[in-house]
Amino acid sequence: MTTTRKPVVEVRRSQRRRRTVSAYRDGERVVVLIPDQFSRAEETEWVDRMLARLAAREERLLRTDAELLARARRLIARYLDDCRDVVVPESVRWVTNQNGRWGSCTPADRTIRISHRIQEMPEWVIDYVLLHELVHLLIPSHNALFWDLVGRYPRTERARGYLEGISAATGMVMDD
Ligand SMILES: [Zn+2]
Repeated sequence: MTTTRKPVVEVRRSQRRRRTVSAYRDGERVVVLIPDQFSRAEETEWVDRMLARLAAREERLLRTDAELLARARRLIARYLDDCRDVVVPESVRWVTNQNGRWGSCTPADRTIRISHRIQEMPEWVIDYVLLHELVHLLIPSHNALFWDLVGRYPRTERARGYLEGISAATGMVMDD
């Protein structure tokens, strides 16, 4: 979700603040607390920075299990429409105990778990990981048909490259 409308910002200067800046939402407004000694330029810079940070935080909070299931349904409708009778997840959840996996799927009970580690990654990476696990509902192994189906998602190669880069840096591995 993106909000294009800029919120009303109220800047409050505090003599007690030295360096710290904070921001919070108060109804329709965003209150930004800055040190009193900040120049106008610093104020402008920090207001923009805090608005971006607040928006990112709110976007992360939107990444709930319900949102994940809705995302799965959108991906199925878009890329797996001809398999939608068999690709029916029972549950799709964010989990914190993935032990070195971005996502996993148990076809027997049709459950999908996605690592919280990808929660802050770009949307198109989350979509790839989720679609990968959805296809596992149909095909447990990574055979040619599996990759054909996953490959319907146009950013598959790019997302795999992105995840490989992070794996190399952190020691995490994808489930393949
Ligand atoms: Zn896999």
